[in-house]
Amino acid sequence: MLVTAFHPIISANATKVWLAENRSLESMCPPSLMNCLLCRSQASANLSSSVGEQSNLQLSRSGGAKVSELGFQVAFKEHRIVAFMAGVAQVGAEVTDVVANIIDTNVVVNDKSLKPLFSFAVITDVQYADIDDSQSFLGVPRFYRHSLESLHRAVDAWNRRGGLAFAIHFGDIVDGKCPKDKTRIAFNSVLSEFKAFRGGPVYHMIGNHCLYNLPRPELNQLLGIPPSTNSDSYYSFTPYPGFLFVVLDGYDVSALGWPVDHPHTKAALHLLETKNPNSDKNSPDGLSGTERRFVMFNGGLGEQQLKWLEKVLEEATTFEQKVIICCHLPLHPGAAYPSTLLWNFEEVLQILHKFDCVLACIGGHAHEGGHVVDSHGVHHHVLEAVLECPPGTDAYGHVDVFPTHLSLHGTDRMASSEMYLK
Ligand SMILES: [Zn+2]
Repeated sequence: MLVTAFHPIISANATKVWLAENRSLESMCPPSLMNCLLCRSQASANLSSSVGEQSNLQLSRSGGAKVSELGFQVAFKEHRIVAFMAGVAQVGAEVTDVVANIIDTNVVVNDKSLKPLFSFAVITDVQYADIDDSQSFLGVPRFYRHSLESLHRAVDAWNRRGGLAFAIHFGDIVDGKCPKDKTRIAFNSVLSEFKAFRGGPVYHMIGNHCLYNLPRPELNQLLGIPPSTNSDSYYSFTPYPGFLFVVLDGYDVSALGWPVDHPHTKAALHLLETKNPNSDKNSPDGLSGTERRFVMFNGGLGEQQLKWLEKVLEEATTFEQKVIICCHLPLHPGAAYPSTLLWNFEEVLQILHKFDCVLACIGGHAHEGGHVVDSHGVHHHVLEAVLECPPGTDAYGHVDVFPTHLSLHGTDRMASSEMYLK
């Protein structure tokens, strides 16, 4: 007997759930269902229904479902439905029929007809330079001139689509190989492409390649990063009521961008000297695991920024805001290779995990992209770089924000993703 697919994600994936003769259910949640709202976050979920009538499933923010009246209960364990009690929802019904019923009752499900609260455009590591194509130190081809063409197509596509509240570039706007006498021309070329975006403001953050090119105060001004007395580059903004975007500066403590006698330069050089025995501090050779992050092209958050982050999250909790963290450097080893991680990612995660308001962390820098859900249900999503798109291909996208999930729609090299929220 084929029955029931009340599972909200199943509607998109057409995953089927079978009811066995003994009335136990076996779920077919695919292994990739990292975002499985019910399985991931709840050991059990309840569903109210009466035979022959429409289902009445209500998702709560914690990821469960509420039961009322007649209900039947389904227990989950490790992506498998292991128990099924009372009531039957349309035995023999096709998956899509049941999903249709749920949609009819206005339940929040993964349904394309539902309107997002708001949407925003994403892109990272344009890393433009007017130089010939070459390769990364790992031999990955890089297409320096094409990245500007790809950005042009991205902005064009966003404008044609419409309905985007803002765009955000996750750092590394111009490559460090850009000839020094052409740096400002290259920056202006990229920024003028972004200026053509008609959806709203464009937000930027600092990447290592930005710092190879220009001093921090000038970068902040060019990138529209709010002014601060210390030339800090972290800030936050609220694009929609109840949502706060926190933009971190991953190169706060860094050997890049500050004057040589700045305390943060000194702290960074001391850390690198302690952690990385190589004469070339950009090389992770000989370092293992997450220790490979101690290279000069990475950085960390300083004390002042950590305190600011904690205060911002406290306030967000008070005002019941949901938070999305943006940082050029990845914050979780499950989402990126170790040599790209923020130096003090563990310290930052500890702060994020003190609060229930953080939904997701989005970043760039690790050009191949990645995604993981951490132990506290926070998504870590690393976006794919424009720079490594072969000519004619792209890596841009937009995120639809729903009360229950973030839906990333990627183009070409940028993978799409459904991020179901805790
Ligand atoms: Zn980078």
